[in-house]
Amino acid sequence: MFDVVLKSGRDRSLRRRHPWLRGDSIERVDGSPAPGDWVRVHAASGETLGYGFYSPASRLRVRMLAFGKEAPGDELVEARIAAAIAKRASDPLLAGLEALRLVNAEGDGLPGLVADRYGDVVVVRPTSAGMARRRDAIADALRRASGARSGVLRADAAAARREGIAVESGALWGEPAPERVEIDERGRRYHVDVAHGQKTGFYLDQRDARDLVARLAAGRRVLDLFAYTGGFAVAAARGGAASLTLVESSAEALSLARENLSRNGAPDRAELVRGDAFEYARAPGEPFDLIVVDPPPLARAHRDVPAASRAYKDVLLGALRRAGEGAWLLGFACSHHVGPELFAKIAAGAAVDAARDVAVHGVLGAPSDHPVSLHHPEGAYLTGLLLRA
Ligand code: SAH
Repeated sequence: MFDVVLKSGRDRSLRRRHPWLRGDSIERVDGSPAPGDWVRVHAASGETLGYGFYSPASRLRVRMLAFGKEAPGDELVEARIAAAIAKRASDPLLAGLEALRLVNAEGDGLPGLVADRYGDVVVVRPTSAGMARRRDAIADALRRASGARSGVLRADAAAARREGIAVESGALWGEPAPERVEIDERGRRYHVDVAHGQKTGFYLDQRDARDLVARLAAGRRVLDLFAYTGGFAVAAARGGAASLTLVESSAEALSLARENLSRNGAPDRAELVRGDAFEYARAPGEPFDLIVVDPPPLARAHRDVPAASRAYKDVLLGALRRAGEGAWLLGFACSHHVGPELFAKIAAGAAVDAARDVAVHGVLGAPSDHPVSLHHPEGAYLTGLLLRA
């Protein structure tokens, strides 16, 4: 076990059980731990604070797995995976779901690891050297605890670059997984492209928001901006939308959206627009009665916040201009740098420019299979505002 000693005064976040340790907080590393090795972290005084996985190439030099003096072993990862899956199995908010997140990184005490289940297929995304190195043990633990027939690994290219590691997509266990898996989410049927889709293939974190859209959609003209594979549009179709318009820049995503819509009995009420959602929102046109705005993360770092705020305001303003009297607007920001307070401020700015009185009817986050550790507020990345104009 290698030792990492913090600079004086840099022990506060670890004492508060925050799992990230940046390189610039480190005074010295004894020896040269390899990517993913266990390290023991000490305060400047020498006191042992805890244990984590070392990432020599990353700004997040250590991801803490355990606090306190007692040294854990690799079986900790396996035990946490089993615990994460058991937690979901006993969670009434997740009852009956065949597609859900099984492991939510820091929220399950497993920084650097995400695993999503789509029926019989589990998609695993390691984003740290420590987790990438333990892929076989992780696969084994996921297979045993989930009972899923197939496991596949999806590499995260950006994370691999950050960590200076090679992660290769491919089979982890069991029967070769089909590229496309069909899931049933509370009556909504989706094809999920687990081999090529974004992230692990589908935005499981918007499940409860899709329920909400289904409940709001009856008789309404619905606009789904940044539609991806039609997650919200399908919900609106099942909820009885009068018409559907989807705007999305990716042709592959839109073609899967078309299939998803027809799978849910909504082929002729839908218009699919391949293009820029910002431009679409800005252009004049027919009004809508329910508008979903779900852009990609616009603020990946704190320094992006001003530009991201302008972009969010721009698209919300466009959406408000396209919103008919009494329309619902469901807007999302998926970056912890833009939380509910800031997002509401941005929306207020858009409402002023649109000269509309707008009220907040609900604030949304990610559902219960995406738990956020109280010690890691960065994990709360998703904010949704349900507005009425
Ligand atoms: N609402 C979707 C998820 C959206 S993710 C769901 O619930 O499944 C953001 C999507 O926006 C991605 O599919 C991405 O391809 C698309 N996108 C990114 N920039 C865009 C732009 N300028 N115009 C339209 N779509 C864009």
